[in-house]
Amino acid sequence: MNCYDVLIVGGGPAGSSCAWALRHSGLKVAILDKQIFPRDKVCGGWITPPVLTELEIDPEEYAAGRVFQPITSFRIGAIGSTPVDIDCRMPVSYGIRRREFDDFLLKRCGAELLLGAPLKTLERWPEGWIVNQEIQARVLIGAGGHFCPIARRVGAKAEYESAVVAQEAEFVMDASQLANCQVRGDTPELYFCADMRGYGWCFRKGDVLNIGLGRADLHRLSSHVHEFLGFLKSTGRISFDPPAPHGHAYLLYGDSTRDVAGDGYLLVGDAAGLAYSQSGEGILPAIQSGLLAASRIVAGDLGSYRGLLEKKLGGSRYPWLEAFGRHLPPQLISSLAHRLVGKRWFAQRVVVDQWFLHAA
Ligand SMILES: Cc1cc2nc3c(=O)[nH]c(=O)nc-3n(C[C@H](O)[C@H](O)[C@H](O)COP(=O)(O)OP(=O)(O)OC[C@H]3O[C@@H](n4cnc5c(N)ncnc54)[C@H](O)[C@@H]3O)c2cc1C
Repeated sequence: MNCYDVLIVGGGPAGSSCAWALRHSGLKVAILDKQIFPRDKVCGGWITPPVLTELEIDPEEYAAGRVFQPITSFRIGAIGSTPVDIDCRMPVSYGIRRREFDDFLLKRCGAELLLGAPLKTLERWPEGWIVNQEIQARVLIGAGGHFCPIARRVGAKAEYESAVVAQEAEFVMDASQLANCQVRGDTPELYFCADMRGYGWCFRKGDVLNIGLGRADLHRLSSHVHEFLGFLKSTGRISFDPPAPHGHAYLLYGDSTRDVAGDGYLLVGDAAGLAYSQSGEGILPAIQSGLLAASRIVAGDLGSYRGLLEKKLGGSRYPWLEAFGRHLPPQLISSLAHRLVGKRWFAQRVVVDQWFLHAA
């Protein structure tokens, strides 16, 4: 039996951040992941500056030999309408590739890595857990993403939750695709669905293109993706068919009822359901929750994690507005927002500043 103080199940940003924050704790920590790294992860790969500061990542060091695309503007609109360009005049976000980023975080985190090893069995023992009948751990961190086996074990039923579902393709463009792509690296393009229940994106990072669409509604996702690709082609943003997309899902913070802390375990990242509600940004809250979980382990106080996580990620900024909105028919809100999204002031002040960059 291999014995650890902490076993982290999942080596994405949530799990590796937790391990990284425990690297000087004196605790014996391991990360178990079913995949061998570097591995692909369905994701746009857009990160905001606090990701770098929270993890003390030197942008220059990171950018050496890896994709690191500064973002200085956004193109915002609705599918089928004319978009507006919002120039932020300085880098306000970055584009990374998840197979590089997650591998970078995992390799420097200091934990023992048990890769290519899915969690198969999980049993309780008096002082903790037994995993796969060969690993003992006092504390278990569920960092296995939306379908995390630890989250499932403590009651999550992913198939019944109202998650965001998404499809995405990321690929290196060949010479002909490069010549037929009008999307600029410094300007991700975001196009909202007519009912405002999701949006599509077209995000270039050097020669890499990332195209996807996510919706808070799992019906007819493929036909929304098809419509979006048709729109991109009809407007000349791309003049070729991207490869077949891959799908995934995540829960928005506020929609999740998962119990993030319990006897001998904590859930972090997508396993806890923490993505920002309007943008779907999940990497930052995954990292923040991983760091917070580590601090609670060191403090020997897992019970305070739930409350501190709520404090960190915050409740609603505009509770009065949300309360007011709850009394309006959803169709009215969607139609209003759909009309506003192509207006410059709304795209800048609300979509970019508030929804995507969390500006005060
Ligand atoms: C299409 C799409 C686009 C997105 N775009 C963005 C974006 O641009 N920016 C952003 O901030 N967020 C984005 N997100 C959200 C973001 O991808 C997630 O919030 C983030 O990856 C969560 O990190 P995590 O570490 O919690 O989980 P993950 O990154 O999912 O990592 C979980 C790890 O657990 C492992 N695992 C799973 N099951 C097991 C098991 N049984 N045994 C062992 N290991 C297991 C997996 O192999 C994986 O490595 C997007 C999501 C989707 C679906």
